[in-house]
Amino acid sequence: MFRDELEDGPAAANTPRPLPGALTRASPEATLAGMKVPLLDLKIQYRAIEDELRPAVDEVFESQVFIMGPKVAELEAAVAAYSSALYAVGVSSGTDALLVSLMALGVKAGDEVVTTPFTFFSTAGVVSRLGARPVFVDIDPATFNLDPAKLEGALTPRTKAVIPVHLFGQCVDMDPILEVLRRRGIPVIEDAAQSIGAEYKGRRAGSMAEFGIFSFFPSKNLGGFGDGGMVVTSDKALAEKVKTLRVHGETVKYHHMFVGGNFRLDALQAAVLLVKLRHLDVWSKGRQENAAHYDRRFAESGLAAKGLVVPPPAVYKDGGDAHYHIYNQYTLRVKDRDKLQAFLKERGVGNAVYYPVPLHLQDCFKGLGYRRGDFPVSEEAAEAALSLPVYPELTAEQKDYVVASIREFYG
Ligand SMILES: *Cc1c(COP(=O)(O)O)cnc(C)c1O
Repeated sequence: MFRDELEDGPAAANTPRPLPGALTRASPEATLAGMKVPLLDLKIQYRAIEDELRPAVDEVFESQVFIMGPKVAELEAAVAAYSSALYAVGVSSGTDALLVSLMALGVKAGDEVVTTPFTFFSTAGVVSRLGARPVFVDIDPATFNLDPAKLEGALTPRTKAVIPVHLFGQCVDMDPILEVLRRRGIPVIEDAAQSIGAEYKGRRAGSMAEFGIFSFFPSKNLGGFGDGGMVVTSDKALAEKVKTLRVHGETVKYHHMFVGGNFRLDALQAAVLLVKLRHLDVWSKGRQENAAHYDRRFAESGLAAKGLVVPPPAVYKDGGDAHYHIYNQYTLRVKDRDKLQAFLKERGVGNAVYYPVPLHLQDCFKGLGYRRGDFPVSEEAAEAALSLPVYPELTAEQKDYVVASIREFYG
């Protein structure tokens, strides 16, 4: 996912952009003409913390300990504390965090794992890799997250796990999901790849079920300088199992109790992530402020009232929860999405479609027997969703330019 962010990001960052000071002196027309707003600009964040990052990575160079070791252990303790879980196990990616969690639960050929079709591919891909069958449940139209009311109908005696995804930075409505699954003894893996630090009724994403997983892919809210991920759990036995599976199922040196994999995390990633974790709450707050700015501007624009643009709802905000949504993405539903997308590209406004093809319609899942029409809410979302730049360092001028460009499109 986010490959286009990685392509847009550096390219856009290389294009000269007027400084914020210059913008205030320019005429409004000139401002609009010269503006470029990348979808994500990681260079600004890097410059701001470069002085903290250098000594941290130098320490790893000096130690010559590159895989696992004390830095990874330190990061595990910090992420466990941050996500209110008792144990954390650093792994090679968010995808591997999902895979190893399913392995720890004993998911195998012939089993079924229930999840949403409106997510990044990896959530269901890992299920197939174990020979098990992904079973999809449609999403809630307001939040883009799995619809708890539709879950029970998808469960069978073969259901071995459920993976709800906290998409775009906002938690799924977990209580009704847990209520149904606790009754049947079905374990849950929270896919919190996009939602580290988000909360649901005072509980942190990843801490509400058997397992939670995080991704440190560079464009996630807590992004490394390469791939990385984490499994969190408060079940000691499950934590031990994941630790063993992470190193080929090795219990005693060269003695293998299970077949695992190489799912280890690098010390360099841990060193970078430990520095970044200290800033995460401030960055998440910046994203929330950007989202609030967009919400206000879209309300003023009248586009929302006309149904041309529907800003994302933050459903747990009213409870006064400061972590209600961490906005890994600010995702609109819009009319004429593809035309708007092309228009915004022309105007220098970075944007992306997460996700254009729901998973039940992917070629590789043809064998599952799903058809168009099976999950209408996900299919509608795939046609209407458009994510805007929401990274913390955006200026007010940039945000206003984004909204002005969208207003211009709808005339
Ligand atoms: C990014 C992501 C993953 C996979 O994480 P990687 O670190 O890229 O392997 C899984 N699920 C969701 C919802 C994601 O956004």
